[in-house]
Amino acid sequence: MWKVKEKNNKITLSYKFRIYPTHEVEEKLIKTMQIEAKLYNTLLDYIETQRKQGNKVTQLDTQKMITKLNLDGKEQVYSKALQMVNNILWYNINVLVQLKKHGKKVGKLRHKKILRIIGYNQSGFKLLGDKLVLSKVGEIKILLHRPIEGQIKGVIIKRSKTNKWFAIFQVEQSPNPLPKTGKVIGIDLGVEKLATTSDGIVIENPKTFDKLEKRIKILQRRLSRKKKDSKNYEKAKIKLAKVYERVGNTLNDYIHKITSQLVKNYDVIVVEKLDITNMVENSPSTLRKHILYSKFSMLLHHLSYKAERAGRRVVEVNPKYTSRACSRCGFIVNDLRLSDRIFQCPKCGFTIDRDYNASLNILRIGVGTAPLPVEGKPLLYIPFHEGVYSKFPLGSRKSPSRGGDAPSVRAE
Ligand SMILES: [Zn+2]
Repeated sequence: MWKVKEKNNKITLSYKFRIYPTHEVEEKLIKTMQIEAKLYNTLLDYIETQRKQGNKVTQLDTQKMITKLNLDGKEQVYSKALQMVNNILWYNINVLVQLKKHGKKVGKLRHKKILRIIGYNQSGFKLLGDKLVLSKVGEIKILLHRPIEGQIKGVIIKRSKTNKWFAIFQVEQSPNPLPKTGKVIGIDLGVEKLATTSDGIVIENPKTFDKLEKRIKILQRRLSRKKKDSKNYEKAKIKLAKVYERVGNTLNDYIHKITSQLVKNYDVIVVEKLDITNMVENSPSTLRKHILYSKFSMLLHHLSYKAERAGRRVVEVNPKYTSRACSRCGFIVNDLRLSDRIFQCPKCGFTIDRDYNASLNILRIGVGTAPLPVEGKPLLYIPFHEGVYSKFPLGSRKSPSRGGDAPSVRAE
């Protein structure tokens, strides 16, 4: 749900909010999703039968079918939502085709009992204060914890794996270039710290992380002992999904603040290209790796669309030597271990915090200059609870609690 597309110079992104349907409305939503699934299955069967007979079927063919189709409960679902079922089906078909093309072994599409999304494109929905009004469904309370900036093009209603309800708005934004600051920054993303910058700033990981990580480990172990598809298995699965959801939410808010601040303060932001194989080598566990990966990709994603809108540049550099090169003389240290927190150059004797050294290299590679770090200058630590706004260079103070300018794209 993180798609950022560019069309006629506009940026499309999604805002995600929790919604709270009453029991009655919830039943309607579920019923709608079941009818959608019936339509999905019917269209799928039709395509398969036609193909078996050697007939070609297109997305337009099945779309035209929908109006004529005699399907129980069809009139209870908004017409555009029915069309979206067709889009989803063809999307799935095309994914399979692509996978096959790339030599992957794939099965065939299966019938669905329920489709977990309902799509309203262009029409059939209205946002009135804290109420979302949906055609054929009714009113739903919505928690708009951030204002929506831009023009709303559509909304998708979604039921998560933990059975929570969400509304995801498709919004089009116009570019909003910020005045130049004349500043550039290199950022090293880390396992221990979230980030270290070439300005000598350390941004900590949220503390709650360690606790949640422990909890995930326990729950995973429990899940693995349960019989698959049993009631207890399902219960344990939901519990685990909930903790992952919390990890995602905590991170998301934090990363929104950091990326907004970076984009505000720097014309060019240099980061390492996200390299999953490198992370496998360097991280102690697969769980860590999973969390790290989602964390870094979230950060890079937020950074890129915010920079795009603000007319800033994000440069990605090859991470190959960023940790192992001396930022003063360029000497490469081959036997640097992850446990070496201090970088010590055997050639020129330069001694520096490992991640700070990396951030200086990242900056240097990204902008093609070699800035010398100020020796002996202590790193400025920013603990999580202080928020990231307070000590950023050039940072104008801003309430850390409500971002305002950032869309909410929560992970699940
Ligand atoms: Zn050196």
